[in-house]
Amino acid sequence: MSSSLLLLKTVPLAVANKAEPQQLIADNFTFEDDITPAEVGMLRERHRFAFSSIMSCPVLNANERGRLINTYRLAIHHSRTNDPKVNASAFVGVPAMSVNFTNLFPQGPIEIAQTLIHEMMHCAGFSHPDRRHPPEGMSCTDPNPALFDCPFDNGQYYGTAPLRAEVCIGGSQSDMRARFQKKAQEERCVIDSNGLATIRRV
Ligand SMILES: [Zn+2]
Repeated sequence: MSSSLLLLKTVPLAVANKAEPQQLIADNFTFEDDITPAEVGMLRERHRFAFSSIMSCPVLNANERGRLINTYRLAIHHSRTNDPKVNASAFVGVPAMSVNFTNLFPQGPIEIAQTLIHEMMHCAGFSHPDRRHPPEGMSCTDPNPALFDCPFDNGQYYGTAPLRAEVCIGGSQSDMRARFQKKAQEERCVIDSNGLATIRRV
């Protein structure tokens, strides 16, 4: 059994909020009526997995982790989107998110958790600029963070809190590198002038 599978099976359902032990993470989240019980169950389980992963991950600093914990205590409202180009979206600083279940859920448990934590960081108020494509003749085989954005370059896009949070849920180092390269080819997050942060298919 791989370590990530083992982690999936052993992740605690109630974590971190020791001051309020009766309060399970994601139990107070709310869901539109058109989201099925099975989808609600998956969302809650993946939020708990993401939250517990972040709490044991050094990638976020104390301020970032604290703001995420406070956001997880809010009644995050979940709605459905059927936009075929969208995986999920959330307004920066607003305790709500929208999910395209048809697009997101088949991607697998790790990717679901990465998308949820990315959007939760937006709910917590964190932002990032648009991802910059490599200029003609350049690529992420030879990253240059001054000019364009590539996974793990710690630059102006991948160095931000929402993208770093995803790293906490990336699995083992080798799996994670491959997963981020694949994600970079398949999706990017764009924040529009209204502050809506959307993880889009490219
Ligand atoms: Zn984003």
